[in-house]
Amino acid sequence: MAENSGNDAKRVLRIEGMHCAGCAGAVERALLGVDGVQRANVDLVGERALVEAPPSVATDALVAAIVAAGYRAAEQSTAASADAAVERDVARAWQARRRALMAWALALPIVAWMIPEMAAGILWPTPAAFHIGMLVLATPAVLLAGGPTLRAGLLAALRRAPTMDTLIALGVSASYATGVLSILGHFGFLPHIPDYSGVAAMILAFHLTGRWIEAAARGRTSGAIRALLELGAKTARVVREGSEVEVPVTDVAVGDLMIVRPGERIPTDGVVEEGEGPVDESLATGESMPVLRRPGDRVIGATVNGDAVLRVRATGVGEDTFFAQVVRLVGEAQASKVPVQALADRVTRIFVPGVLILSLATFAAWWLFPATFGRLATELAQIVPWGVSDATPLGRALFAAIAVLVIACPCALGLATPTALTVGAGRGARSGILLRTGEAVQTLSRVTVLVLDKTGTVTAGRPDVVSIASRGVSEESVLELAGSVEASSEHPIARAVVGACERRGLRLTEAADVRAVPGRGVRGRVIGREVWAGRPDWLETEGFALAEWADDRAAFERDGLTIVAVAADKAVVGLLGLADRAKPDAREAVANLRNLGIEVVLLTGDNELAARAVAADIGIERVLANVLPEDKMAVVNDLREAGAVVGMVGDGINDAPALSAADVGIALGTGTDVAIESADITLVSGEVAAVVRAVRLSRATFRKIRQNLFFAFAYNVVAIPLAVLGVLHPLVAEAAMAFSSVNVVLNANRLRRAKLG
Ligand code: ADP
Ligand code: MG
Repeated sequence: MAENSGNDAKRVLRIEGMHCAGCAGAVERALLGVDGVQRANVDLVGERALVEAPPSVATDALVAAIVAAGYRAAEQSTAASADAAVERDVARAWQARRRALMAWALALPIVAWMIPEMAAGILWPTPAAFHIGMLVLATPAVLLAGGPTLRAGLLAALRRAPTMDTLIALGVSASYATGVLSILGHFGFLPHIPDYSGVAAMILAFHLTGRWIEAAARGRTSGAIRALLELGAKTARVVREGSEVEVPVTDVAVGDLMIVRPGERIPTDGVVEEGEGPVDESLATGESMPVLRRPGDRVIGATVNGDAVLRVRATGVGEDTFFAQVVRLVGEAQASKVPVQALADRVTRIFVPGVLILSLATFAAWWLFPATFGRLATELAQIVPWGVSDATPLGRALFAAIAVLVIACPCALGLATPTALTVGAGRGARSGILLRTGEAVQTLSRVTVLVLDKTGTVTAGRPDVVSIASRGVSEESVLELAGSVEASSEHPIARAVVGACERRGLRLTEAADVRAVPGRGVRGRVIGREVWAGRPDWLETEGFALAEWADDRAAFERDGLTIVAVAADKAVVGLLGLADRAKPDAREAVANLRNLGIEVVLLTGDNELAARAVAADIGIERVLANVLPEDKMAVVNDLREAGAVVGMVGDGINDAPALSAADVGIALGTGTDVAIESADITLVSGEVAAVVRAVRLSRATFRKIRQNLFFAFAYNVVAIPLAVLGVLHPLVAEAAMAFSSVNVVLNANRLRRAKLG
């Protein structure tokens, strides 16, 4: 649900140095520790934090808190820095790749050298040469390839905020140390100690491979968003001082008149002033069918003009464009939390310290009770290979303790939700589905009742005046009076009335003191006359007599028309009857929603018969008509109290309260900005089918989130006890741990190809 936290400003901070869910938690706590911060969401995968705090909280204070916690941060704005961020992500992926390959290049000879030992217990050529050789090969692997991980992990430990890297760093250092100690042991300075230094190099190689795959996935995801930004036009042709000039798109100002030739991209958001033709908006809506755009229609920057020359007045530039907003919304969604993640967060918070303690306890137990554990290990070794292989109590204790350190993986837990959400939100953006919060994804996937607003949502929102009844004045003048006041309203009915006037060549007079009353109509002064246009019963409650219009009204209603009563001064002068057709895809979409197990309800402020006509047309049974805007919210609340998880789909200002009251509010992008602001999900295309796609996407995304959390939990629940019991070789442990993170990332990426349509 959209929460309005007063005038708290949202800020996005770019954060560097986070490697795991433990780091993300530390940054989050640091931010929440700053006075005045209301909320802080850290997005591990996107390396950002979304902070809500009043403007009085300086961004510098936030950055300082993050730096104090041991990470780097800077404020991020959308478009420009999104580019830089992608650049950085791609560079990081390359760096991660280089480190992983370097680690393997050093680790593979070690593996080859270890084969005779593992197969036949032979330390080739001599035990001393073997131990020294291992150490010589492992040293560059640990220091060069693993240096950054070791440094980050140990620093975090010193700050007493241990992270995933701390576990790896301790596991690697301990393994490496056994190499040094075993050489000393070999020359008789110490008791015999097993040599795991080669294992240290391999642990790193696996770990860095996991990192590489994560970094590559991250680079790809942000690349998808950059691809959106890059699609925009680079230059625009604008009219300056009477002549056409070509300027960089960044120089276009609001109010400029742009000339868009056939086949060109529309440089920035605007309204068509001249020209009429199809525009391919697939980039924004995911629909391949071009839409007809004519004077007065809004067009979106970066969409492709068809075969007409359009003159477009720029209405939004830079960060105020539709696409900048998409990038911002997608970014916010990716950084937001999904409620189901809460449990995983609680687990990760205690995870790393818990594992450190467990590892020490494991070491102590194996060392202090060698008989008990030794017997246990021998028995388990019958079942699982790769168990404790060393004969001495100290060797076995080291073995099990190191395995515990490297197998425990809060990483997969931390990645489970953000990776799925990132891919899901990106997938949605490509199909014109803008998910604003992770919570919306979870809720929409569980919706049981979808309430559809009629006008503009289910119907084309391009109604037409088809009948006029008048008394005492001409039909024309009824239309003209109505048109003059409706000219200042955004309502589809208002636009229809104005359109009808234009088609008949009627000259509209500018009205004064116009007031639009949502869900009822408009009133204003036209050349000294008080003019009203709106729902008949609104006029009645305002004291107008409609008794003598009863027959016309009944006739219009029988035809399923929407009625606008028009009054001038104290008397009703006529009725307009409007027909509004259902959108062509509405019927199929309603059937699809039903197949998904969702009940569909039609909700409208229009009269019962007009509503029934549309409902019958598209196969909706439950109709709630004559509902005033303030009551739409009550209807939604009633449904919720009856136990339904309610989704509300709307497009107008009058739907805004209902959108925020619903469990999840869905705004059609063709609607007003207010509606979009109050919604949790925005569908860029006006199609009803987009609602179906949104439900499918949310279900697919949420399913991935659940699968990922399950994998991550199951992995740790199974692996940690095995490591404690000494039946996991540290190497197998590290391979499993790398695999579990990679698995979560790959599983999330499968969402990219989810079928929605
Ligand atoms: P819906 O719920 O179907 O989207 P609204 O709540 O926007 O419809 O409007 C409900 C009714 O109020 C309309 O059917 C119409 O009769 C009337 N109405 C609203 N705005 C206007 C307007 N600007 N001009 C005339 N009638 C209006
Ligand atoms: Mg509406």
